[in-house]
Amino acid sequence: MNRIIVWHRRDLRTHDNTALSNALQETTDILPLFIFADDILKQRDDFSPACVKFMTESLKDLSAQYERIGGKLILRRGFFLEVLHEVVRESEARAIYFNEDYEPAAKARDNDVIQTFTKLGLQVRAFKDQALFAKQELLTKQGKPYTVFTPYKKAWLSQVHLIPTPIPAPKHLTTVAIHSLPPLSNDELGFPCTQQLLVKGGSTEGERQLAQFLSNKIHRYKELRDFPALDGTSLLSAHLRFGTISVREIVRRALSLLEDAKSETEKIGIETFVSELIWRDFYFQILDNFPIVEKESFQPSFRHLQWENRDDYFEAWKFGRTGFPIVDAAMRQLNTTGWMHNRLRMIVASFLTKDLLIDWRWGERYFMQMLVDGDMAANNGGWQWSASTGTDAQPYFRIFNPTSQSQKFDPHGKFIKAFLPELRAVPEKYIHAPHEILQKSPLLAREIGIELGKDYPLPIIDHAVQREKALAMFKSAK
Ligand SMILES: Cc1cc2nc3c(=O)[nH]c(=O)nc-3n(C[C@H](O)[C@H](O)[C@H](O)COP(=O)(O)OP(=O)(O)OC[C@H]3O[C@@H](n4cnc5c(N)ncnc54)[C@H](O)[C@@H]3O)c2cc1C
Repeated sequence: MNRIIVWHRRDLRTHDNTALSNALQETTDILPLFIFADDILKQRDDFSPACVKFMTESLKDLSAQYERIGGKLILRRGFFLEVLHEVVRESEARAIYFNEDYEPAAKARDNDVIQTFTKLGLQVRAFKDQALFAKQELLTKQGKPYTVFTPYKKAWLSQVHLIPTPIPAPKHLTTVAIHSLPPLSNDELGFPCTQQLLVKGGSTEGERQLAQFLSNKIHRYKELRDFPALDGTSLLSAHLRFGTISVREIVRRALSLLEDAKSETEKIGIETFVSELIWRDFYFQILDNFPIVEKESFQPSFRHLQWENRDDYFEAWKFGRTGFPIVDAAMRQLNTTGWMHNRLRMIVASFLTKDLLIDWRWGERYFMQMLVDGDMAANNGGWQWSASTGTDAQPYFRIFNPTSQSQKFDPHGKFIKAFLPELRAVPEKYIHAPHEILQKSPLLAREIGIELGKDYPLPIIDHAVQREKALAMFKSAK
């Protein structure tokens, strides 16, 4: 018997899936498995209903992909080790293959699986799949992991030719008949989802999204990617998070467009997009090589910052009631759609840490509870970058002014008005700081029918004052 369990986790696709392709080199007798893992689902604080929705949609798509080629995706629920024991026993498989993960808890789990089942005589193999370069594949001249992005990017690009060519989905395989659960819904998994997600799960949808981005948007990516009112980014983050598309495929197709680029703008658009995928790898290798970042600031001197951590400010931030329209609109985008534009993630993270003086870990966790693309490595990296506590982070004295960020990146207030309907009648001139109407044109407030402080909050803080406090907090920790 030469049966291999292919255990899917963050790789919900059959196309260019390294564990699956390796298994298929040995046999077509494949048992594709997905476990609704109580080990993870019980950590409710770190996992969002949006993620569960995207995952269940992706699993339906993955089941259909397997059925089309004669196989069957086996779905089970329970604790990882118990379920794996059950499935190994029932299927009499001789091997378990999966794609590796870089989060500390997942690494511990995978080591457990490797040790337990190797002792039982099974072959257990883990493959690189979600990153292009991982672990310590790229090291500095001193043989250390990179902690600065620019040289990391240079090293990454110098090795790009080593990225393997994507492998098409298999044409045929067979799966032994063992019990499988029907696909479970959000409610059945205990994660009811009220958000109207901006993106839909599944490889079919991921491929559609990718094709559309590559043909219509990538050439203007650099120009448009910072403006939240414009549809300028790929929206592929949740697909990358759940592996419904292959990152190798994305990079190969993006780079192949470079050869035919018709203008410098187009070339720069493609290069900038690839650079964002390099940030993704960068943060994977940071988390893998410096797992302390999961719980602590990367920079030791900022591990004891005296955050104020006011609960009332945190609540106002979470629910978009700070009186700073760009922050509030961004938080409402997150709360209602499960996604937030990158420029806004930077603005709200800077605002939480450097205006409200709240520990970045509070914001990091809230993002994980809300985002459809919540990913520990990228989220932690983004938060620590914004809070200036991370590796190669924004210097602590660079503090975003939320109003000028708003003027620069949402100049006509189009994004703000889309998410804050109570401000729709506010003229463009006041949209970034509506409280100024009260000082400069009190009659106007009455004319447009908005009672500031009631219909929309007055600013909960004074940016100039908080900025000074933040600088003092960082300086005293240095
Ligand atoms: C505070 C903060 C928290 C973040 N949390 C997450 C998170 O939980 N999950 C997540 O995938 N991204 C996170 N990011 C990075 C970035 O905001 C999102 O990847 C991006 O907004 C997703 O939209 P997109 O797919 O349209 O991105 P695009 O602009 O089209 O970028 C393409 C892909 O590159 C990757 N990418 C882009 N920017 C980054 C980055 N700075 N770091 C790592 N990878 C990047 C993503 O996989 C993204 O899908 C965070 C950034 C910040 C500042």
